[in-house]
Amino acid sequence: MNNCIFCKIIQKEIPATVIYEDDDVLAFMDIGPIIKGHALVIPKKHYDPITETPDEIIAKLHITAKKIATAQMNAFGADGVNILQNNGRASGQEVEHIHVHIIPRFENDGHHWNWKPKTYENFDEMNELAGKLQEQL
Ligand code: 5GP
Ligand code: ZN
Repeated sequence: MNNCIFCKIIQKEIPATVIYEDDDVLAFMDIGPIIKGHALVIPKKHYDPITETPDEIIAKLHITAKKIATAQMNAFGADGVNILQNNGRASGQEVEHIHVHIIPRFENDGHHWNWKPKTYENFDEMNELAGKLQEQL
């Protein structure tokens, strides 16, 4: 993908602070960390979104995310880790090359997700949505 910023990082056309690399994936520091130490893992081959990405690549991305999460806990003493993966503009995705965010979390780090749970009108409404999903699975 010509204009993909993450492909450019893989091609070393633009710099990145790489923390892990193998034949399939590259992990590097996010330039705009939600919490300092925030890292990204991407496949070396361009895929996007998750629904168009082969299962073995998804597995590899998440196995690598686990390694990085472990390193964040060991290196920084992180108390927790958020693993996040956005797909599509509606989700907040900005870079359209599949990537997994690994964000170290600390007690009282001051970050709060704007996560406001809603309620269904009734169980029928939830069950109807569940039924539509089951038909696709
Ligand atoms: P998204 O919103 O697409 O899930 O997240 C994209 C992430 O990529 C953001 O957290 C952003 O800070 C990071 N990012 C965007 N451009 C660059 C870049 O050139 N270098 C690095 N290291 N991170 C980037
Ligand atoms: Zn790309």
